[in-house]
Amino acid sequence: MSSKFSMSLGNLRSGIATAILALFISTFVVQAADNGVTIDEYHHGIYLKVLPVDPAVKPDISLLESSEAMDKIKKAIDLIYEKSSFNADALNLLKSRGDVVVVYDPGFPEWSRGDIILAAFLPNFYEPAADAPWNNVFVAMLGRYIIKHSLAEIAAEGIVHELVGHGIQHMYGRLTHMNSLNMECEASLYEMQAFQDLGVDLYSDYMVNFRREFEDFHCDDFKRFMQKHKGSLMSLWDESPLDVKVILTIFDEYLGQLPN
Ligand SMILES: [Zn+2]
Repeated sequence: MSSKFSMSLGNLRSGIATAILALFISTFVVQAADNGVTIDEYHHGIYLKVLPVDPAVKPDISLLESSEAMDKIKKAIDLIYEKSSFNADALNLLKSRGDVVVVYDPGFPEWSRGDIILAAFLPNFYEPAADAPWNNVFVAMLGRYIIKHSLAEIAAEGIVHELVGHGIQHMYGRLTHMNSLNMECEASLYEMQAFQDLGVDLYSDYMVNFRREFEDFHCDDFKRFMQKHKGSLMSLWDESPLDVKVILTIFDEYLGQLPN
């Protein structure tokens, strides 16, 4: 099925959430436009694209075949629709406000000094078709590292965190003025809900570290707000699994009182 949107060139808007994100957008828009698109599918109302390997670049890890990458993305989306109705509903909400796209690019990230970037949300990667009834094209970019992870990790970390977490922020027009800690706190809460719904072991080292990082670092300011204004609800953070839906409603209150 052909998509309703087109490649966006020179569509960089100011006020993009972070400089790093802006850097990726400029780099990858050009790359995608140069290489074209090898595979184009439509799955659960989500456009899927697999970009070709650039033969000029020697990869730092062995790459998955394009067909295998597409298959894993489809299965990860199936998992969300089968097991995480909260995130499936959020994806459906995004679909009602724009085109939703998952792109796999074996060239992403371009280089990997320091922390490896697994995936990214790119609000300006494609521009909407001229006759589209909306202005949004929500894009999750998955790179060569995350595509080798488990389906649950691709679903939760690659698709839900980027598309649902940051996509909802973009849909409500808050991506440009949230600070990065709050952005990551909220997106990680959606991701946590996905991991819980998918039945992963919440006590594995990976999950313990993930929870510790977003709870103690990204959500630190939010938790201080809760401590001060919703002290009786702080016990929500002692639970496992986390009651993400309730915590997100308190997060909305927290956002509402922040200065713009
Ligand atoms: Zn994020």
